[in-house]
Amino acid sequence: MELDEFRTSLDAWLDEQEGALAPDHDGLGTLDEQMAQLTKVKRLTFDAGWMRWGWPVRVGGLGGTTLPRAYLGEALTSRDLVEPGIYSMAEVLAPTMIDFAAPELAATMVPRLLRGDETWCQGFSEPGTGSNLASLSCRAVRSHGGWRVTGQKVWTSLAQYSERCVLLTRTGSVESAHRGITALFVDMDSPGITVRPIESMHGVEEFCEVFFDDVAVPFDRTLGEEGQGWSVAMDLLPYERSTSLWHRAAYLHRRLQQLLDAAPPDTLDAAEVGQTTQLLYAFRARSRSTQHRLARGEDLGPETSIDKVLLATIEQAVFDLVGDGLASDLAIGDGTTSERWRTEFLYSRAATIYGGSAEIQRNIIARRLLDLGSDR
Ligand SMILES: Cc1cc2nc3c(=O)[nH]c(=O)nc-3n(C[C@H](O)[C@H](O)[C@H](O)COP(=O)(O)OP(=O)(O)OC[C@H]3O[C@@H](n4cnc5c(N)ncnc54)[C@H](O)[C@@H]3O)c2cc1C
Repeated sequence: MELDEFRTSLDAWLDEQEGALAPDHDGLGTLDEQMAQLTKVKRLTFDAGWMRWGWPVRVGGLGGTTLPRAYLGEALTSRDLVEPGIYSMAEVLAPTMIDFAAPELAATMVPRLLRGDETWCQGFSEPGTGSNLASLSCRAVRSHGGWRVTGQKVWTSLAQYSERCVLLTRTGSVESAHRGITALFVDMDSPGITVRPIESMHGVEEFCEVFFDDVAVPFDRTLGEEGQGWSVAMDLLPYERSTSLWHRAAYLHRRLQQLLDAAPPDTLDAAEVGQTTQLLYAFRARSRSTQHRLARGEDLGPETSIDKVLLATIEQAVFDLVGDGLASDLAIGDGTTSERWRTEFLYSRAATIYGGSAEIQRNIIARRLLDLGSDR
């Protein structure tokens, strides 16, 4: 389906289905409520076909370019039907699963993620190994009939809700660095997995510590070949840093407008509002061009670090303005509206960390795009 036709038909359907799609909770809701809402919206949009456009037919999609996927995310977040962070997970994890999983595995699993029947998580970071991913130590060893995995992950978003995990493991020697990493697709109910949620400073247990104690993973759950885990990570991270953020910017656009509507007169500096608006449009222009590159079938790579730096900058700029315009709501306000501004302000500080920190993105831009030499 062409994008214009998709937009018009989807918007009409969303208007029609307003009651069925509406959240059962007020405001931002708890994470449990957001997850329940996401599941409901994914099921309704998948069953009506909207969630399937832009995904390959071989994984339950309806084919066509990826642009409808971006518009669907924009429409759902702009209408406040899904929380943008948790909605992103499919755009982060499914493309790499399609590229690297055995075709039968991808065909079975991807529709479950898209329809909201399952939640998946991304097990990359470890204590002491976030930026320096190549030094990860969660170990997988070959045994009769499959891998045995032992080690720890941390900051694993939504692990407590997840049925599966895209997991990076060390299969070579420690010195093998990025060459000795293998990616596995792990069932989270496997014996030996312990998940401990961590409360972040915005009061939400969004991410977890995940412990693996001699966990059995069949060989047919290897993504790509043994030792190809770095390629899996390099395939996945560009999605996490670019296309999965398109709808987040649409959401920030909406929140900026709501701030402008709610802020008392003279609390906002016109020049700062102008600069934030300009940053927002800069990100959206950049992100639009990345979406079109993906839609043309081009590979995404280190240039997506520019998208990530821009998104983190705009997210923090919007919520810095909230600090100016709605200072007392943010600091001491009661009620769901104030709580929402406060929660989102605090979460915006994470934008320069998740998906790879701002410093790491700038290193990539300096080294890989501008050829300015090593950061070490
Ligand atoms: C909200 C949120 C959700 C997340 N979800 C997930 C998830 O689902 N799965 C997952 O695997 N991970 C997840 N993460 C983890 C995230 O990827 C890491 O926090 C991030 O990569 C940074 O790693 P670190 O925390 O180990 O910090 P470190 O790597 O220890 O970095 C600490 C500081 O040092 C700086 N630094 C490090 N190396 C360099 C360098 N070479 N040059 C300059 N500065 C440097 C960093 O920029 C940072 O400021 C999440 C994080 C957040 C905040």
